[in-house]
Amino acid sequence: MKPCWIGFGGNLGDVPAHWQQVLNRLEHDPQFANLRISSLYRSVPMGADAGDAFWNAVAEVESSLAPFDVLRKLQQWEAELGRVRTVRWGPRALDLDLLAYGDQTVNTPELVVPHVGLWYRRFVLDPWVEISPEWKHPAYGLTVRQFQDRLLGPRQLWLRGDWPADWHAQVFRQAGQRFPDLSCDLVEKVEFPATGIVADFVVSDRQDHGTEPTLRFSPDDDLPTVCQHVVDVLTAAYEPPERVPAA
Ligand code: AMP
Repeated sequence: MKPCWIGFGGNLGDVPAHWQQVLNRLEHDPQFANLRISSLYRSVPMGADAGDAFWNAVAEVESSLAPFDVLRKLQQWEAELGRVRTVRWGPRALDLDLLAYGDQTVNTPELVVPHVGLWYRRFVLDPWVEISPEWKHPAYGLTVRQFQDRLLGPRQLWLRGDWPADWHAQVFRQAGQRFPDLSCDLVEKVEFPATGIVADFVVSDRQDHGTEPTLRFSPDDDLPTVCQHVVDVLTAAYEPPERVPAA
């Protein structure tokens, strides 16, 4: 049995009821044991078209399944539970992510573990810190609590690497419009700051994802997409989710 952490999100239909059904399945499936769950949270949606406020939570559970089989099971539950019955087949209302699987690393097109977005998402870190603050990222060497702590200070955006000269101003302007109190700075290549969101611009070797929690952009990306992505990440990092007291 390996400890797994599962992230949950949704913003369509009776989302807490869907979550409860996922929890019932985790409780009764013989391939899972020792379920522990966080509170539910409400969070601001990431992305311009994401819709209403989200519900989020994290569960810790032990599993005898391999990481890919956990993913398949989560996808099966998403398909079964997350379909909102409107006039036609509606969108899925349930997003289940495999955040981590012990201290194992998986890096394939279908599955990346630990989940790539966990380090900057307060809607993942806040619930996760309630149940296992000491889990440590195998590549970055930081715990759940340390990732959360990095985001609790002043809001900061660092651009590092070989950013095209005329791109800094655009990224900083759009980020500053969304967060007027955000500090925006360029940072030397080697220094990794203790706080804030770091966005690297990497001209070569896209495959090298480094050993630090950063965003990575390259000459293949276009400026509007980069700006939108940075704003989305800042939203996830700096709009704290609200814990919903248990009923
Ligand atoms: P999304 O719709 O944003 O939840 O993305 C789902 C896609 O992400 C699926 O195609 C999965 O194969 C892929 N994926 C990669 N890593 C993970 C992970 N750790 N947990 C869940 N889905 C993952």
